[in-house]
Amino acid sequence: MGYILALDSGTTSVRAALVDEQGQIKDIVAYPLTLKVTHTDWIEQDAMEIYTKQCQCIDTLLGSNGLTSKDIVSMGITNQRETTVIFDDAGNPLHDAIVWQSRQSEGICNGLIRQGYTNWITKKTGLIIDPYFSATKLMWLFDTYPNLRKMADDGHLHFGTVDTWLIYRFTKGHVFATDRSNASRTMLFNIHTCQWDEELCALFDIPMHILPNVLKSGDDYGVADIHGSTIQINAVLGDQQSALFGDRCFDYGSVKVTYGTGGFLLANTKDKIVTSTHGLLTSIGVSYGSTMDYVLEGSVFVAGAAVQWLRDELGIIDSAAQSQSLATTVTDSDGVVVIPAFTGLGAPYWHPNAKGMILGLNRHSNKAHIAYATLEAIACQMQDVIAAMRLDLDHPLDRIMVDGGATGNDVLMQMQADISQSRLIRYGSVESTIRGVAFLSGLESGMFDSIASLDQLQLDPFVFKPKRSMEQADRIIARWKKAIECVKLYADS
Ligand code: ADP
Repeated sequence: MGYILALDSGTTSVRAALVDEQGQIKDIVAYPLTLKVTHTDWIEQDAMEIYTKQCQCIDTLLGSNGLTSKDIVSMGITNQRETTVIFDDAGNPLHDAIVWQSRQSEGICNGLIRQGYTNWITKKTGLIIDPYFSATKLMWLFDTYPNLRKMADDGHLHFGTVDTWLIYRFTKGHVFATDRSNASRTMLFNIHTCQWDEELCALFDIPMHILPNVLKSGDDYGVADIHGSTIQINAVLGDQQSALFGDRCFDYGSVKVTYGTGGFLLANTKDKIVTSTHGLLTSIGVSYGSTMDYVLEGSVFVAGAAVQWLRDELGIIDSAAQSQSLATTVTDSDGVVVIPAFTGLGAPYWHPNAKGMILGLNRHSNKAHIAYATLEAIACQMQDVIAAMRLDLDHPLDRIMVDGGATGNDVLMQMQADISQSRLIRYGSVESTIRGVAFLSGLESGMFDSIASLDQLQLDPFVFKPKRSMEQADRIIARWKKAIECVKLYADS
């Protein structure tokens, strides 16, 4: 019957995959992306590199499988969210893309907080004022480069997240659009009215005509023209919302954690807008036909990135996978606590000035203890967010779907099951982000009939059950919380 072509335009790589009617990934091709770190925490990417590498992925994928665009039923795009791209009418980037992790708009955010806009903005957008989101990145660009403001005023500048950028290029400028899940992460979108918000745009001084049209996630995004081959684009989803869909979290209160560079806990709250009282964010999930889901989200800035730090900066492991073998040479961290708050603390603390710390060292502490404590830190950070979500949803969260690169680490998964006292379920393929947008594209094109048929697919689940007692978990959490207090004290001093 042919394949769904799913594109995953991530932070560290772009990927393209073929997904069949069993929901299985037949093949996947990835190309790494260059990250430009200009100041300590200013992170940018060449938008043209994102587009050209995405095209190369498609060429290689189709070529190596002996396929042409005729073998593709439809195409879906999932993408790193919040990352801000500006481009002209002809589709030329006007600045490097400002990546979600980038913090050049911290001063702007502090100003908005000082002026008392926190609750007003959260009410409309479901978000917390932070440089993470697109709006203040765009303000920073206009403040820094007055010529960009003039181009915007003259109607020749377009803003988008990475999905919008790719669609504009793929359709040769015919379609300038985004989907609701991506729009809800810009801080310009009203999640109640499901429209760009005039008052927010006025506050941020962002002309509304530079914003893309907002469609449902499952919708007609035009026809991609890739070297003369044409493929219908019918699904667009922010990466975390896509993973939630790919992990088949279709019901109220179903949750997943993605362990990639960062860590992301999302719960499906269906048509209910849940406002967190514990530092979590509300966004829009998948929308298609008459369905529109909301999600509650807690993000941790550093998850797998802490393992990269062990490898690249401390040099105590040669590969991410080695973090597991090194950690298993000890039975615990022997009191060592690592707090990898390299770019501040995200949910539920929202402490942008926090810095990382290693605490509890003794004369015998060694690299294995540090590796163990780093994995434990990833699990403890996630536990903080899980605890916040349990309170917000009044739900036990005793069954958590997991996906992303770091879920290959069984020690980390067992730590998480133990600390959170939850069952973790990992599918045979942890590429849930790809699977989610492929599911949606397949629903739109008729490859899949319904949510019920997606639920029938065999995805080879593996379950991690808690092996430690609640008391042991509580001891680890209590020690972690003490260490967090030290980090906050140091940041505030
Ligand atoms: P992203 O989509 O954010 O680029 P991925 O889902 O591809 O992330 O996961 C990559 C991250 O997972 C890296 O930060 C890497 O350090 C981490 N990682 C990969 N394999 C392992 C492993 N076996 N143990 C721990 N961390 C891992």
